[in-house]
Amino acid sequence: MCGIVACYSREGCYEKLLSALFRLEYRGYDSAGIALLSAGGLSVRKRAGGVKNLEGAPLAGDTGIGHTRWATHGAPTDVNAHPHVCGKFALVHNGIIENFAQLKEELLAAGETFLSETDSEVIVHLIARAYEGDFFAAVAGGCRRLKGSYAVAVLCADRPGEIVCARSGSPLVAGRAEGALYVCSDVPALGGCGYFCPVGEGEFVHIRGGELFFRDDEGKELPKTFSRIGAA
Ligand code: GLU
Repeated sequence: MCGIVACYSREGCYEKLLSALFRLEYRGYDSAGIALLSAGGLSVRKRAGGVKNLEGAPLAGDTGIGHTRWATHGAPTDVNAHPHVCGKFALVHNGIIENFAQLKEELLAAGETFLSETDSEVIVHLIARAYEGDFFAAVAGGCRRLKGSYAVAVLCADRPGEIVCARSGSPLVAGRAEGALYVCSDVPALGGCGYFCPVGEGEFVHIRGGELFFRDDEGKELPKTFSRIGAA
């Protein structure tokens, strides 16, 4: 197993992402990474080995994603660590894309170039190619091509303050904390959150304008009720 986290916090999310990744460590992993989005664009730090290898000068940004990887396709190296970037997009993925070889062949034939050996990198290429100015629609369109299991969190350099997450097979839960919004692989990693709401199979979470929305793959908002963490 392994984990992903997405976080929005006006106070900056670098420390919050690192804390969440430390809380995901118990699930097991071989490499880790984060991407943050600020007015200056995307910044990425990813390394083989422990989450502690990501510590250092804080990356700027109120919007970010993080990953602990359990390698299934490609060795546990810095390059194969997530996030993966294509153009304006950065993505973290938990799971296995069963049709990745076929998708990669199609993308290579279309002129895309790949940096990693992972199955995950095809997803960010599909999203970048589906993008026509609507971030949510691009992620939903990319996910429609996938067979296998995934929980993903995606940033778009055009869309400050915005994160799109999706799940099929791999778990995800949304959390609300004082001054921060999270989407994460499990409840223990939501330390500091007062409230949580599981993400259903096939559902999307869209963080935008300091709010968190559940949506179906057409972008229609889904009504949800958050529960207090620790309540019986
Ligand atoms: N299959 C992907 C990889 O090998 C994701 C693994 C994971 O879930 O951490 O990079």
